Amino acid sequence: MYAEFMTILPVLIELQATHDYLRTIERDLTALPPDLAALDAQIKAQDKRLNELDRGVLEGTAQVEKLTKELELAKRLEEHARKHLKTVDQKVKYAAAIREVDERERQRHGLERPLKELEARLVAAAKEQAEIKTRRIEAHAQFTELHQIFMAEHENQVVARKELEKKRKTLESKMTPAEVTRFGRLLSQRMGRAVVKVEGGICTGCRVKLRSPFLVQLHETKSPMGCESCQRIIYIA
Ligand SMILES: [Zn+2]
Repeated sequence: MYAEFMTILPVLIELQATHDYLRTIERDLTALPPDLAALDAQIKAQDKRLNELDRGVLEGTAQVEKLTKELELAKRLEEHARKHLKTVDQKVKYAAAIREVDERERQRHGLERPLKELEARLVAAAKEQAEIKTRRIEAHAQFTELHQIFMAEHENQVVARKELEKKRKTLESKMTPAEVTRFGRLLSQRMGRAVVKVEGGICTGCRVKLRSPFLVQLHETKSPMGCESCQRIIYIA
């Protein structure tokens, strides 16, 4: 099942430990002090609002275009109705023509009002976008400055991370790309514990007792196998 991992058990164990250290360092480096965390949250909130505004402006602009076209048509129809009214002299037809003009006028008003409101909303949105962008630039500059200080204070971790990344690459170069991918997937699925020892006939990953024939096979071949219960790579130390 894990034939591909047979010859590289020590590499896998070291790679797993390297990932462990990297995760710890990553946790330290992303555990921001309150002032930085506040700025980070502020920037994220600003980005969220900007996204909302972008979407709103896009929808609003499309709506304005649609209403503008409808309004143009309504105006033409109203104009037509007014012209028609002037040509009518018969009393009955005149009343109908008047009603027609009234109706067309109502339609035009019905479009003009929402269009005006929509345009006002777009102007307000553009203003808010500009304000947020200005504030975001300030917040981002402040964040960058404080973050540099924070990273300088954590120089040890930064250096260690660089070393560990190098080590990770070296270890991975001893594996095939398919192995790297597969092991990486197993690591993330099993909370960083993809390769574990068997102790007292028990998989230390999932605490399940191994079947006897399976255990015998593991002892005899001395090569890692996949736990039948949790699929971790298991070996006898
Ligand atoms: Zn297991």
